[in-house]
Order: sequence, then C-alpha cells, then structure tokens
Amino acid sequence: MSSSIATVSYIGATILFILSLGGLSHPESSRRGNLYGILGMTIAVLATVFGPQVTTQGYAWIIGAMVVGGSIGLYAARTVKMTQMPELVALMHSLVGLAAALVGYANYIDPAASGHLQGVEKVIHEIEIYVGILIGAVTFSGSIIAFCKLSGRIGGKPLLLPGRHWLNLLGLLIILYFGREFVHAESIEAGMKPLIIMTVVSLLFGIHMVMAIGGADMPVVVSMLNSYSGWAAAATGFMLSNDLLIVTGALVGSSGAILSYIMCKAMNRNFISVIAGGFGTGGGAPAKAKGDAEPVGEVVSISAVETAELLRDAKNVIIVPGYGMAVAQAQHTVFEITKLLRGKGVNVRFGIHPVAGRMPGHMNVLLAEAKVPYDIVMEMDELNEDFPDTDVTMVIGANDIVNPAAQEDPTSPIAGMPVLEVWKAKTSIVMKRSMASGYAGVDNPLFYKENNRMLFGDAKKMLDEVLVALKS
Ligand code: NDP
Repeated sequence: MSSSIATVSYIGATILFILSLGGLSHPESSRRGNLYGILGMTIAVLATVFGPQVTTQGYAWIIGAMVVGGSIGLYAARTVKMTQMPELVALMHSLVGLAAALVGYANYIDPAASGHLQGVEKVIHEIEIYVGILIGAVTFSGSIIAFCKLSGRIGGKPLLLPGRHWLNLLGLLIILYFGREFVHAESIEAGMKPLIIMTVVSLLFGIHMVMAIGGADMPVVVSMLNSYSGWAAAATGFMLSNDLLIVTGALVGSSGAILSYIMCKAMNRNFISVIAGGFGTGGGAPAKAKGDAEPVGEVVSISAVETAELLRDAKNVIIVPGYGMAVAQAQHTVFEITKLLRGKGVNVRFGIHPVAGRMPGHMNVLLAEAKVPYDIVMEMDELNEDFPDTDVTMVIGANDIVNPAAQEDPTSPIAGMPVLEVWKAKTSIVMKRSMASGYAGVDNPLFYKENNRMLFGDAKKMLDEVLVALKS
C-alpha cells in the first residue's frame, strides 16, 4: 500500500473515531458509535499492517501477536461478568501503559529508529522516548493497583504515607534530573541507566498515586487512568512517527480527562485533591469508615407481596438501580415489572446517579441491555426535585448513591457528594441482602428512616417474587 493511500485511510479512521465518540455520548446513538469505532479501528489496523512502515518479514510476527492477543481478548470478553468490567478496563489500561513503555525501550535500543538523527532532532526524539516511558510506566503500575482495588484484592482505604506530597515532589525532581542525564548520554548503554532509574521511580509513583486515593473516589481514578492510557498511546505515536496513533491517543486522553472532570463534579470533589489523594481526611488522617453521626433507630422490613401492593397503589414510582442490580443481574425482571406497572397507568422512571455501579454508564448499559426505553431513564439532576411528589422509590442494590449522610453529616467521608434524595418520597424501599455498607464503607441512615422499608434478599430473587405478586 502506498503511503498516500495509508494517509487517506488514517484520515478516514480519524473521522470515524470522532464520529464514534459523538455517537457514544447518547444511549440512542451508542450502537452506531460502536460501529463507527469498529470500522475505524479495522481501517487503521489494515492501513498500518499493509502500509509503508511494515515490511513483509514483519507479517508473521504481527499475525502471531494478533492471534494470541485476539484470543485472550475474545476469551476475556466472553467470560468476564458485567460486574467485573471496571477491573477488566483497568487491566486493559495497564496493557496500554506497558506497551508504551516497551515501545519506548525498543525505540531507544533500535539503531534503525533513531541512529540517523542528529542535533535538535535527536534531543526531541529522546524526550519523546523519555516522556512516553514515563507516562507508560505510571499508567501501568497505577492501573494494576486500580485493578487490585476494584477487584477487592487490596482494600479501598487510602494509603497515606507521611510526607507523601514531598515524596511525590522528590520523585518528580529525580525524574527531571535523570531526564537531563538521559538526553546528555554519549551512548545507548550510558542512556540506559537514567532510563531504568526513571522507569522504577515512575512505577513507584503510579503505585503511590492510586494507593493514596480513597475507595469512594475510584470512579475518578478509572477515568483518569483511561485518560493517561490515551496520552501513553499518543506518546507512542510520537516515538513511532505514527500520526493516527497521536490523534487517537489525544482523543482518548482528552475525553478521559473530560470524563474525570464530570465524575469529580458528580461527586462534588476537587479534581486536584482527588489526584493528590486521601479525600475526606481533613488533617491528613485516613478516611474513617463511619461518620461521627452513626445512624440510630429501627429498621422495618417488608415482604415482596407488600412491596407489590405498594407499587400497585402508586401513581408515581422512581426506581434507583445500583451495583447490587448488576451483581444480581436483575435488570430484565426490573423491566418486566416496569412494563406491568406502566400498563396499569403507573408513571415509572429510573434515576441514574453518575457514579452508580462500578464504571461510568454502568446502569445505562444494563438498562439498555434489558431494553428499558431511554426516555424514562433520567439523570440525577433531572429527577431529584421530583422525589417529594413520588409515592414509592425502589432502590435496587444501591447504597452510597442514596446515602443521606452525604447531606446531613459533615463528618461523613462522602459529605458533599450529591445523592439521589429517595427518602423524600412517601415510601422508599431498599432492596439488598443485608445491612452491609456499600463501596465507600459508610453506614447509611436511610435504612433507619421512618418512611423506609427494607426488602432483604438477592435483588433478582426478590424482584421475581414481586413480579409474581403483581401478576396475581
Ligand atoms: P454500593 O457499592 O454503594 O452499594 C451496592 C449495594 O448492593 C451493597 O450495599 C450491597 O449490599 C448490595 N448488593 C450486592 N449484591 C447484591 C445482590 N445480589 N442483591 C441485592 N443487593 C446486592 O453501590 P452504588 O451503586 O450505590 O454506589 C456506587 C459506589 O461505587 C460509589 O461509592 C462509587 O463511588 C463507587 N465506584 C463507582 C465507580 C463508577 O465508575 N461508577 C467505580 C468505582 C467505584 P448487601 O451486601 O447488603 O446486599
């Protein structure tokens, strides 16, 4: 393939990626967005493999790598549970980081890649390598820690080392110092020492950065690492002089940064303080599992049959799904109940918190899978004022996103986070298996409110029973 055809293909792929991002911004157009993305990626891979930068001897390597990588990806995609998606995404980000770091090393060692460069060009190329490996290493180790935290292999508590900001500053100074050494190195052998030291410091920095972030701020970390993986890919693009990789990396990097900002806004967090770590810690002490004001009172449970009666008598119902709905895979039953109630003239809507579940858009994906119409799925801001006029709110496996302590208890680790005000409805029903806390490890005073009822049990099982009772 000639280089001009490859360039045209790259431009076509870039346009398709932009259309893909645009499509993914709304549930209705997301399928189309996905298709654009797949098409763009296929064109990009074909144009690269058959483009001028790859020789025919390279085909065997590329096909071998694609078969191995594709098989692992296919296996992971088929076997991963919906609730494990965020962990998988974190793991994928780590691979992007690792790839960027390895490409950096390969590029530096390979004389064909940079041996001909002189003067300023050589310095610029070495800076590209240094920065690429730096971002790649931080993304790699940070994503591995995020994976461990999201999968429960490491606890959610922030690790706050004494003088942690000074440690970060020291790391930065070491990286800058060895950056200078690297650029002034006389030979590849001499340049390896500063490069390896910087890589180790960057790996430690990535671990420290994510370890210091509290459990409830993990949504921001996931989107932030998504952004980093984009910048790592862009850096790889500079190293390999591949325009498409630069553009694609920049698209992922900037959309991840925008998403992080949106998530911070949704959680009422300052972006910088989330990155600096240890949120809700006042004087720098680790976040407490409980707020000072521990909830008191009695918990009133309700049966599935009683829940069905309340729903049948209601005019306005709001359903708030959370992580537990994903665990129980209860979305299909939820929609069956919704159809039945709507058939009886009940106004049923869904309230979606931006950080519900374990990844951005988690609930929207599940509800779309169950074919819930988009026009009854509302954002938190669109719905919060309607709770006082609502007869029944049904909270399905959600906890932190409906915790009134965020508004009522300034000492709570989630104080200030906007929540769905479900307790303002005439009756709220919380469906969960026990009194256990949610991801943030914070007690929930909602359970003890006078107008709240608890429907204990697995969400799918309980909703099946509610459905049977509604039908009878
Ligand atoms: P939570 O983690 O606060 O609560 C989920 C609740 O679901 C638990 O209390 C659990 O209680 C219940 N549950 C679990 N399994 C079942 C089941 N089979 N049937 C019924 N209930 C079940 O989830 P939310 O969605 O309310 O809040 C999301 C939390 O996750 C926030 O703290 C957010 O910051 C964090 N997070 C979000 C990310 C994102 O991008 N959206 C990423 C990472 C973290 P029990 O055990 O008693 O059943």
